[in-house]
Amino acid sequence: MTAQTLPAILTNLHNAAVAAGRPDPALLAVSKTQPADAVQALAAQGQRAFGENYVQEAVAKIEALATLGLEWHLIGHLQSNKAELAARHFDWVQSVDRPKLVTALATHRPPGQPPLNVLIQVNIDDEDSKHGCAPQDIQTLAAAIAAAPQLRLRGLMAIPAPWPEADRRQAAFTNMAALFATLAAAHPQVDTLSMGMSSDYPEAIAHGATMVRIGTALFGARPRPA
Ligand SMILES: *Cc1c(COP(=O)(O)O)cnc(C)c1O
Repeated sequence: MTAQTLPAILTNLHNAAVAAGRPDPALLAVSKTQPADAVQALAAQGQRAFGENYVQEAVAKIEALATLGLEWHLIGHLQSNKAELAARHFDWVQSVDRPKLVTALATHRPPGQPPLNVLIQVNIDDEDSKHGCAPQDIQTLAAAIAAAPQLRLRGLMAIPAPWPEADRRQAAFTNMAALFATLAAAHPQVDTLSMGMSSDYPEAIAHGATMVRIGTALFGARPRPA
């Protein structure tokens, strides 16, 4: 997949949103394995929100680019022993999928910082290989997050399986949209449904994504496998 410019991607997002009759989704630029220079170049064009998968790699970039005032999202699996580092450095954690992580992030969010924005990651296709909670666990996790003043529950995240069949992909997006509607009805502060990547973001937007996470289509192929 060849990279497109930031304005071209933003135009694609806008067109998909107009076609779906929805507001434009937020763009999270996924910068995992990309050097800080590449982040800085995109920030100079106006991109503010960046997604990272690996805590230590991210913290190095966050510290190197601290003066830019960017918004950093952790989108990769978070081990409990890295929760303290994540709670101190990120603005959002999109991969919360178990109660232990809720406790660890709340405990370690420094008192002077605003609440950490949290998405619950859902294993929507029930894949053994994927992290994320089962749909039936969302409600309990949401209650725990909402009860922690150091955290702010913002919504749901999913990485649907890249099924070759369009109807299977769309079923995952449709199921996520229904889970999101249920969660938002119970928690009025919930406003974010994070789904859609380089290969499937127009479909995700058509099904109600409010945030898409795009790496390859923006930066080109990653310098090393992720
Ligand atoms: C790497 C990654 C992305 C971006 O994937 P691309 O196909 O490069 O757009 C999005 N979300 C998550 C969770 C990722 O790990």
